[in-house]
Amino acid sequence: MSGRQVAVIGAGPMGLAVAYELAKAGDKVTIFEADDRIGGMSAAFDFACTRIERYYHFVCGPDTPLFAYLDELGLTSRLKWTSTRMGFYYNGVLHDWGNPVALLKFPGLSLVQKFRYGLQVMSAKGVKDWCALDKISSSDWLKRGIGEAAFDVLWKPLFHYKFYEYQDSLSAAWLGTRIKRVALSRKSVFEERMGYLEGGSEVLLEVLAERIRAMGGEIVLNAPVGVGGHPTGGPGRKDFGVQVRGQLQRFDTVVSTIPLPYLSRMLPGLPEDEATKIAAIKNVGVICVLLKLKKPFTHNFWLNINDPRIEIPGLIEYSNLNPLDGESSIVYAPYYMPQSHPKYARDPQTFIDETLRYMQLIRPTFSTDDVIASAAHRYEFAQTVCTPDFFAALPPMQSKVAGLFMADTSHYYPEDRSICESMALGAKLPVWHGGGNA
Ligand SMILES: Cc1cc2nc3c(=O)[nH]c(=O)nc-3n(C[C@H](O)[C@H](O)[C@H](O)COP(=O)(O)OP(=O)(O)OC[C@H]3O[C@@H](n4cnc5c(N)ncnc54)[C@H](O)[C@@H]3O)c2cc1C
Repeated sequence: MSGRQVAVIGAGPMGLAVAYELAKAGDKVTIFEADDRIGGMSAAFDFACTRIERYYHFVCGPDTPLFAYLDELGLTSRLKWTSTRMGFYYNGVLHDWGNPVALLKFPGLSLVQKFRYGLQVMSAKGVKDWCALDKISSSDWLKRGIGEAAFDVLWKPLFHYKFYEYQDSLSAAWLGTRIKRVALSRKSVFEERMGYLEGGSEVLLEVLAERIRAMGGEIVLNAPVGVGGHPTGGPGRKDFGVQVRGQLQRFDTVVSTIPLPYLSRMLPGLPEDEATKIAAIKNVGVICVLLKLKKPFTHNFWLNINDPRIEIPGLIEYSNLNPLDGESSIVYAPYYMPQSHPKYARDPQTFIDETLRYMQLIRPTFSTDDVIASAAHRYEFAQTVCTPDFFAALPPMQSKVAGLFMADTSHYYPEDRSICESMALGAKLPVWHGGGNA
């Protein structure tokens, strides 16, 4: 079926991929985006003369659907790979991490614990069917693999400072796919290899947007789709469409790609079973600090942290993956937490100041005089809490409301949120299999 009038809500990677595929199939698409730019979690901004993403992004070796899009859009030459390094700040000392030699030298684990850790990572690499791990919690799975004491050293602070009260409510399948994706990105056990897009994710998203427009599609920015903007009834209803800027715009099909919690607020008329499932899914937000420094902070791209004085799971020194201008250094510090956490509502400067204090703890020679610029961005629903039995918890992508489709980053569980998976799902959404309200 083609020639339908389709509204896509959200111009993140998923919304753009949906719209691009529908436009190619002959539909007339209009994307409504609340923000003043495309990209969602992958959006970019001008940061002291550097164009950069609000949140860090890396590409992994197994991101095959992303490579297919880059090929189709003529962007493969923009994909670059770097041999990256990891660090681990553990109880006041900065250690190397992420290769067998670093593991052997690491003081926080016994030889047996190190062996069991290596074994668990290797076994996750081989998992193909995640159904069994969907049923158990990641904490139980990890403790079974490496023991409770090693779990406390390696994983507990990472979970705690990302999920807080949900830290023991995560599915082992979700964690396992994360471990597998990163492990399969390595060139060898000794060499970690991560990718990035020269010019940032924006390069890909802007070309997609251009192609959509060239096929007659429209992207409307600053256009939050409002409460009550969706249909409650069946095929052919005249009130089917989206409510934008106080007006109902009629469409044959509506595809929502915005975080599901927004959708349930926006659509009070959803069937009860769908609304109940959406309401049961929890998300955490993020406030992500970004610093531009005169010189490198460390040589690591990724620095895990386990230190009682530091309330973040790690630091990401992005310029050690993507050298950007080659002159300055870029560091991200993510503060993930449920929106109900008392820290969440603090103003951005508080998070920046806290980050600088932590950096002085990690490297006492670090001086705030080295900071060229700072910023902090907040994303309300940044990471779904994928609980055990999450396959069964997911709401359907095709609503019982005829013509309405809804997906967000949770729908490609057990894979973790990524640009690659959002685009892959966007390309597959069932909307072009004859669904619609025409
Ligand atoms: C800190 C952080 C680090 C990350 N690191 C990586 C990484 O290293 N590699 C990687 O591949 N991915 C990473 N990601 C994930 C990646 O950014 C996301 O998976 C991807 O952007 C999701 O795209 P999406 O289109 O599914 O959703 P989103 O990006 O959430 O897009 C949804 C869009 O809907 C819009 N919207 C919301 N409400 C409305 C409304 N009412 N009306 C209209 N529009 C609305 C939003 O403004 C947004 O533009 C990271 C994310 C974060 C937050």
